Amino acid sequence: MHADNLIHARWIIPVEPPNRVLEHHAIAIEQGRITALLPSREAREQISASRVIELPGHALIPGLINAHTHTPMSLFRGMADDIPLMEWLEKHIWPAEQRWISPEFVADGSRLAMAEMIRSGTTCFNDMYFFPDITGKVALETGMRAVLGMILIDFPSAWASDADGYLERALALHDTFRNESTVSAIFAPHAPYSVSDEPLLRVRTLANELDLPIHMHVHETADEIGQSRKQYGMRPLTRLRQLGLTGPNLIAVHMTQLQDDEIEAYAASGGHVVHCPESNLKLASGFCPVALLLAAGINVALGTDGAASNNDLDMLGEMQTAALLGKGVAGNTEALPATQVLEMATINGARALGLEADIGSLTPGKAADITAIDLQSIETQPVFDPVSQIVYSAGREQVSHVWVNGELLLSDGELTRINVNRLMADTGSWQDKLQQQS
Ligand SMILES: [Zn+2]
Repeated sequence: MHADNLIHARWIIPVEPPNRVLEHHAIAIEQGRITALLPSREAREQISASRVIELPGHALIPGLINAHTHTPMSLFRGMADDIPLMEWLEKHIWPAEQRWISPEFVADGSRLAMAEMIRSGTTCFNDMYFFPDITGKVALETGMRAVLGMILIDFPSAWASDADGYLERALALHDTFRNESTVSAIFAPHAPYSVSDEPLLRVRTLANELDLPIHMHVHETADEIGQSRKQYGMRPLTRLRQLGLTGPNLIAVHMTQLQDDEIEAYAASGGHVVHCPESNLKLASGFCPVALLLAAGINVALGTDGAASNNDLDMLGEMQTAALLGKGVAGNTEALPATQVLEMATINGARALGLEADIGSLTPGKAADITAIDLQSIETQPVFDPVSQIVYSAGREQVSHVWVNGELLLSDGELTRINVNRLMADTGSWQDKLQQQS
């Protein structure tokens, strides 16, 4: 049997089937797809590979899926910290966006974010921002798998001026990437407080027609609930249900403000949740009751949110925070065990995005989106349980190799497709411009 790539690793954690750790195994890759998982000894006898990679102290996991981010905002990292969400948006982020958002800003910010994500083991991200066509182009250039948000918001931007404009650009975006294997587009109305009923109804109709997910911030803060009660006489989730937006296509991000009956109804709807614990903590938005959502059978994925509200795009760190916070919020040490958190960062993200047939686990037939983590460092020794080390102890500097569709995007810690010198120079010139503004 032939393979393009054969990777031998000390541990392989396929995620599907659950709770499984394979020792001294190998993954064979042919034409970007995983063709076999087998003991290394058998692989050495049976498989002739064009390229063999030996990772004797490493764990292979499915590439991490960042289920909610705003990649271009990496250029706003650290620009305005330690203030409440609405003030942060209205006084800092939105004015800066009005002033600076352009195709160039989005290209440079997206590239910076993708470099950071690849270096921290993320292979796929679900984005929401202006000029998603540019982010899509950069994703094709960097090799990352990207789900682009077809953004919709009530106020005008450099991307579009009104609902007609946003939706027109949305459909054009969907068309542009429809034949790409690694980049796709889904609906992304910003939030219940920033999109009114009429455009939301149009999103619902289009999403049903095209059978596409709807990615939206929902129940992020208590303020959002209060404002909705005042303006619409109901909580945002009730309004979304009345507008017909809840259902298996909805990817609701944050969900920190939930009543028991809402959890029950949301579980029955088949909707997904993306938990962004570090963003929620930094903006003091509240706590997503993840253990209750999982117990209710809701698919919960994990995201970093944008680099301006986190302030990193590190899914390893996000897993650790999710595991710790989940236990604290539930008051239960058994809540969110390491294996479940790894599922949230991989297969659950794939399910939310409708990509579970292709990614999210190391399963023959799926795309070879793989992350290798070197557990031989002092910081992760000894290794009784590699999953525990990955979730609770490993840092992103231990990510050594990253493949998307069988192509190495990070090789021994080096980015293969991104010119780091150029990236640093571009970022520096944006820092100069943004600093002059304030
Ligand atoms: Zn967000």
